[in-house]
Amino acid sequence: MDRAIDRWAGHPQLRGNPEVVRLSASLLDRSARDCADFAALKARTALWPRAQERRRYAPWETFPLGLVTAALDAVEFEGVEVDAAVAEAVAGNRSRVHPGVEVWVRHACRAFLQAAEWLDDELEADGVELVPERLPRVVQSGSAAELRMLTAWGRWYGSRDGAVREFRRLRMSRTRSAVEPSDEAIAFVVAAGRRAVGHVYRDAPVEVVADDDAPARIRVVEVGLAADVRPRVLVDATPEEVRHRYLEGVRPLAQGVTVGGSRSPGSDCAECKLRTSCDDLPHVAGLLDLDAPGTHRRTWSVTAGRHYLVCPARAHLRDVRLPAESPVDGSAVRRGVAVHEWLEVAHRRGRPCGPADLPDPGSADLGIASAIMTPEEYAESRPYLLAHLAVCPLAGSGRVTEVTAEPTVAVFDPAADVLVLAHPDLLRRVDGRLMYREQKTTVRPLPGGTTAEVFEQVPQLALAALLIAHGVFGESSGTVELEVMTPSLAHVLAFDAGDPAVLEAARRQIARMVHAWHGDTEFAARPGPYCERCPVARWCPAPRTPSTAVGPIEVDGVLIDPRTGEILDAPGPITGRAADLSSALGEPDGDDTPPF
Ligand code: SF4
Ligand code: SF4
Repeated sequence: MDRAIDRWAGHPQLRGNPEVVRLSASLLDRSARDCADFAALKARTALWPRAQERRRYAPWETFPLGLVTAALDAVEFEGVEVDAAVAEAVAGNRSRVHPGVEVWVRHACRAFLQAAEWLDDELEADGVELVPERLPRVVQSGSAAELRMLTAWGRWYGSRDGAVREFRRLRMSRTRSAVEPSDEAIAFVVAAGRRAVGHVYRDAPVEVVADDDAPARIRVVEVGLAADVRPRVLVDATPEEVRHRYLEGVRPLAQGVTVGGSRSPGSDCAECKLRTSCDDLPHVAGLLDLDAPGTHRRTWSVTAGRHYLVCPARAHLRDVRLPAESPVDGSAVRRGVAVHEWLEVAHRRGRPCGPADLPDPGSADLGIASAIMTPEEYAESRPYLLAHLAVCPLAGSGRVTEVTAEPTVAVFDPAADVLVLAHPDLLRRVDGRLMYREQKTTVRPLPGGTTAEVFEQVPQLALAALLIAHGVFGESSGTVELEVMTPSLAHVLAFDAGDPAVLEAARRQIARMVHAWHGDTEFAARPGPYCERCPVARWCPAPRTPSTAVGPIEVDGVLIDPRTGEILDAPGPITGRAADLSSALGEPDGDDTPPF
């Protein structure tokens, strides 16, 4: 821990005490792609940016799980009926709750109570009866000046004799298949933690009370807040076993999290204490051409923007991470994902793709594909990949350097107070010039028309041009490429980010996408024929006319396959609305990883 203190003590951009650490167990499950310094600073709760800024809160509820726990408290401790408890939690909430969020909270509470009944039945067989406990547990040691706290967020239970303790983790939808380090850490908090009578997330140290009895059995259970999902017991062990597993396997990891290390710009940047000073996060005032900072700091990507243009409620319900379904045709979406994954792995090698990388689908060894996709998916993807060989970005003339496949690009626009995220398929330099490539698979003809029309169909290109022109990658020149793969042909469209006409088209396109979104605080539902395929339709209370049509959806004369998002026919150039819907229908829309 000494190294950790050294690293953050006297940091020129931070003020406060680096020796107060409150580590939430959930921080232990971050991947190598996540920013390590963000997590370290999140745990150092007494460190703050030296440049003070007023925190601006979202005018709507962004944490639906908080409403679930508020309602469950009323049910479990006050005996309130569940629907009344949800209504009370929503009515008493500090900020506005979107009607769709309320629908989900009701569903989640009922699912939790069903899971609780199952758990009670299981434990009854062991002669154990658990009751809910109001006070969360915390492990803490040290003083106000030098403090280590380990916390867990969820629901607490115990038997009346104190012998059995149980913690229930809430997952917004499905449960996981493997135990993660955070589960072991939570078990340790359950076994070794004291009950906090103060506020665990405000007081440091927090006042605690001792238990009368020592536990003999520690359980951590995961409850997926979806109907008919059985809870999963993650840990069921003695306190000694729990302690041993934590000290041997997890504590070193926990210490590493508090140290930090590498930096990876991404969605964490929005809430990071180093955001204003971090050299890894480019700042571009005016990137989005918005003239005011809106209600609070927000995060925007082209995908979010497209959902907003189809339906603001859909965008909002995805933004607060309600469970989403993929009602589109799974095989078509999977084909696009499989091609992208194959290309990512192939390009990470840093050499051009070749025919030898694409063996016949009947071969015993499918090469790169064998670890990524099924033989059936390979058979379907291979024609697109064969077409790609002619335009592989790592082939051709010119010296190719600095190849990065599927990076996350994060840029902060302080004028708009928006963090912008982009996910280019490939960045590289050819003879020193930056080349930003997007890749698409399609069965329909290649996109065409004017620059503005192409940008309307693929707004990622417009954002790419703005990022380059604003110097996000260093110099302000470079080329944006769109590689389109069909089963028989691949073609690359190129746009010079230094061309004023290209930049003007890019500005107009991005402005079209962000202006209404940035000022919206209602996120009204905008029902349409696409509701049938909406990933969050389960939570949307807007009145909708059930569609009996099984044929294509028509938008601005463009016919779109409702199962795949493919554009089937277009009398002329594809309008932005049609392109937005096509894209929103065609992209995979499974569950995002929830915060807990
Ligand atoms: S601003 Fe972003 S990249 Fe920099 S430390 Fe924070 S999260 Fe990491
Ligand atoms: S079901 Fe329709 S109205 Fe409701 S969120 Fe989805 S697209 Fe919008």
